Amino acid sequence: MEFRLPWIVAIGSGSVEGLPEILRGIGCSSVLIVTDATIRGLLGPRVEGLLAGSFKLGFVEVSTNHQPTLDKLHVEIPWAGYDCVIGLGGGRPVDVAKYLAHKSSKPFVSVPTSISHDGFASPIVALKDDSGNPLSLFTTPPRAVVVDLQVVSKAPRRLLASGVGDLVAKVTSVADARLAVRERGEEIPESSLRLAEAAASIVVDNIGEVSSWTERGLRLLAEAGLLAGMAMSVAGSSRPCSGSEHLFSHAVDKLYPGRGGLHGEQVGVGAVISAYLHGLDWRRIKGILRRAGAPTAVSGIGLSVEEAARALVEAPRLRDRYTILHKLGLGEREALEVVAATVGSEE
Ligand SMILES: [Zn+2]
Repeated sequence: MEFRLPWIVAIGSGSVEGLPEILRGIGCSSVLIVTDATIRGLLGPRVEGLLAGSFKLGFVEVSTNHQPTLDKLHVEIPWAGYDCVIGLGGGRPVDVAKYLAHKSSKPFVSVPTSISHDGFASPIVALKDDSGNPLSLFTTPPRAVVVDLQVVSKAPRRLLASGVGDLVAKVTSVADARLAVRERGEEIPESSLRLAEAAASIVVDNIGEVSSWTERGLRLLAEAGLLAGMAMSVAGSSRPCSGSEHLFSHAVDKLYPGRGGLHGEQVGVGAVISAYLHGLDWRRIKGILRRAGAPTAVSGIGLSVEEAARALVEAPRLRDRYTILHKLGLGEREALEVVAATVGSEE
């Protein structure tokens, strides 16, 4: 085993104020801030006010996670003028910043403005390839992670509920990983699986507090995301945090582009199905999603039972990573029954 972890993690109310000291702590003096137009409008002036006196600053606004477009953007950035990259925003700016920082071998600082999935502290980047297919790259974990709970508390509830979906889904991603260890002899560090389990437990055990979106609830959600990110760093892949429920979500993206829900919403619905297939307490996962206000049925992610069943059949073909779906090899009729029984309706 060999892995890297963030040097500095700050999770707290107003923790963005600590950015200057954190940047100095990791040896940065000139900073490229990658964000999007909305977040720049909301937070740009504040961050600029904090950093402008002591740091050389540049901003890049991104609106896509299309890899070829980002590769072009990468060539246009005058990298000699920057010694680190901040990703400021929701999932996309953080992913794009992580990718650009990795490509240019600069330290990356993650400043998420919502917790809609587990990427803000992980080494994984989710992009779209040339043909629009999802692409997951293992890069470098952030050098520093700064989660300002005041900022996150202003994120749309739907994004945060999606984060709950992505994190509770570690119950089934770990079940898939353990299945692969047992039946395929796959080598996965036990500590990475424990971290992913702990991420899910934080959300499951505290769902009342988390779903009331109090400062403590958001802190718990952020801590869960941090542990999930660490799990992937330790494993050297997304394995502990991405199993059959993620394959289901990827299949939905592929079969019904632009139609499904948010990543964490789809993964949450997928986790209910996967838990059922693993013989786990799938109703409990459904209950967690319901309390967070996340979709608990395929209708909530814009699909009919038949469409979701098709995605479930397609899912194991997308990746040669052994999961319960590979073991069972569901046919269309079985998939229909499973989807109808678990996520056919909200009940
Ligand atoms: Zn995910």
